Order: sequence, then C-alpha cells, then structure tokens
Amino acid sequence: MELPEIDQVNIEVGSQIRGRRVGNDSLLQGVKNVIAVASGKGGVGKSTVAANLALALSEWGTSVGLLDADIYGPSMPTMMGLLNEKPTASADGLIEPLRRHDMSVMSMGFLLGDDAPVIWRGPMVHKIIQQFLGQVNWGALDYLVIDLPPGTGDAQLTLTQTAPLSGAVIVTTPQDVSLLDARKGLRMFQQVNVPVLGIVENMSYYLCPHCGDRAEIFRHGGGKKVSEELNVPFLGEIPIESAVAEGGDQGAPVVTHAPESAAADAFRSCARQVVSQLMIHSFDSAEIPGLKL
Ligand code: ADP
Repeated sequence: MELPEIDQVNIEVGSQIRGRRVGNDSLLQGVKNVIAVASGKGGVGKSTVAANLALALSEWGTSVGLLDADIYGPSMPTMMGLLNEKPTASADGLIEPLRRHDMSVMSMGFLLGDDAPVIWRGPMVHKIIQQFLGQVNWGALDYLVIDLPPGTGDAQLTLTQTAPLSGAVIVTTPQDVSLLDARKGLRMFQQVNVPVLGIVENMSYYLCPHCGDRAEIFRHGGGKKVSEELNVPFLGEIPIESAVAEGGDQGAPVVTHAPESAAADAFRSCARQVVSQLMIHSFDSAEIPGLKL
C-alpha cells in the first residue's frame, strides 16, 4: 500500500495524542506531550513562537500548559498579560499555575523580582526546573510547551536533561548565521536523545499592514535550507507582522489578538506540523488512536 503524504493524513488534533517522552518520566505524569521550544540565540522570537504554538494547540480544545523556563529573560508575564501576578500555593503545598487564555502558565518571572540573578549555575537551574516540573500543579495536560532559554550552554542542557521531553522545536530567522546556531541546538537535543520535531523560521517575510504586500527583507528560505542540511522537518514560516509584536506587548499573543491574521494562520499551521511530528516520533502507534492513515 502506498503511504499518503503527511499533509493528506487525517489528523485529529484532539486529546488522543501521546508522544514518546525522553528523560525523567516520574515528573509530569499527567502530561501527555512535553514540547521544548529552543533557539540558538535571543531575539529570534522563540517566546513568541512558544506562546502562539501553545495557543494554537489549545484552540483545538486540548488542555495546554505553558512553562516559561527562560531564566535569563522571562517574557511570558508580559506576553500573557500576567505582569505583577503571583501564583499561590494549594492546600497540598503545590504551586498553582496562573490561568490565562484558557491555559495554565508558570514563569520564572512570577517568582523573580528585578534583582534576579543574571548568572545561573547548573545546580541552581536544576533545582528550579525540578520545582517547576515536580511542584507545580499542572494537572492533566495534553501539551506542555516549555520556552527554553536561548543558546546551548549548561543551563539549557540541564533543562533538556531534567524535563521529560517528547520533542523540541528550534526557532531560527532567515539569516545565514542561524545555521550554525540551529546546528548547535540540534546537537544539544541529540546528546540527550530528544527528537527535534523541526525548525520554524520566524520573521520570514514582511507583510505590509496597509496593503498586505509581501516583502522578503531578509534572505528568505534560510530555515528551510537549514532543515534540509540538518535533515530535520521544516515546520513552517511566520511573517513579520505588526500584530505579532502588538499582541505580545498587550498580553494577548497574535493567535488570540488577531486570529484572522496571516501570522495567526501560520502559527496554526506550525502547530499542526508539530503534532504530526509528535505522532511520527511516538514509538507506540497504539497510543495515538487519532492517527488514521
Ligand atoms: P526571543 O524569545 O527569541 O528572545 P521574543 O519572542 O521575545 O524573542 O521576540 C522578540 C521581539 O520580536 C518581541 O518584541 C516580539 O514581539 C517580536 N517578534 C517576534 N516575532 C515576531 C514576528 N513574527 N513579527 C513581528 N514581531 C515579532
């Protein structure tokens, strides 16, 4: 029998999917799929992609959590409209994540003041991540999206070793320099046997807010080229659109802020690709009754 192309597969993006998880499986027992969002360097839109992927997944009626583990610059309090909010402790001593846009959200930013340490050493990172994974009342989730700190140093490695990850998404921009960064990211995940679900190219092209014209201000196609060279899937390209930045600043990522926008659509398409890849990497297809070939 000839297998259909992945685009033709009827994917029910419901709550049935449970990918394979690599790492400490005693943590996050109620979470079916743990997805890390990483980037080689800061400022490429990693947090923006993490927040919008999480929202796109939750639009399908799944239960989703978002963990901002970017210890160097937590941006989810702003991006999710939760500035100055503090999580509370539940009766059994667990930390209750905050709720926003129908998702559970936890961030370093809720716990750290302005005097946050700039340098985190391995053991400290390990401890705080253990707490986020083991002592936050995440409940039963279909997807937990983790926004990792940028780069591939010790802190990132500790994180990827500690969290029971189903897969990782690497965010790049179209510039050539990202190839090196993406390669480093890929190696980091390979080192801990976490499958790279694919590459998202953010800020791919510019969409004029007035006429809707598309301009490729950076060299277009870098993400696709990187994915081909590294032999990992290309998950999609996200335009530079003012609604993306606006939504992020106003506490409502573009998928909810401007649901009809091209960027919101692009994020939804990426989310579908992410789920397809989770299915492919799942070692036991009996665990994914939603998959119909
Ligand atoms: P990172 O997490 O990689 O440091 P952020 O997600 O914080 O990057 O994004 C950096 C800035 O770029 C933010 O102000 C964000 O709103 C903006 N941004 C990210 N992606 C886009 C996009 N596709 N279009 C417009 N602005 C974007």
